[in-house]
Amino acid sequence: MTRETYRFREYLITSDTEPDAEPYTYAMTCAVCEEMGPRSEEMADAHEWAERHLKANPEHLTYREHITRPYLAKPGKWL
Ligand SMILES: [Zn+2]
Repeated sequence: MTRETYRFREYLITSDTEPDAEPYTYAMTCAVCEEMGPRSEEMADAHEWAERHLKANPEHLTYREHITRPYLAKPGKWL
C-alpha cells in the first residue's frame, strides 16, 4: 500500500491572452426558428449569415450572437 500526499493550490480562471490561445469565435442564431449559422473567427461572417437568413425569411427579425472566448487557469499560491 502506498501513501500519497496532496497539496492544494489556488487557481485564477481568466481570459487566455497567451499567443497560443484559441481564437475568439462568433456565431448567430435566429431566435424565431433556432437555426444557427456557421461558427467563424470573423464576426462579420457570422453577421452575414444573419443577413442572408433574414432575406430568405423576412419575418425572422430577432437573433442571438454567441461569442466564444478562451480562458485559462493560472496557478496561484500553494495552500
Ligand atoms: Zn429563422
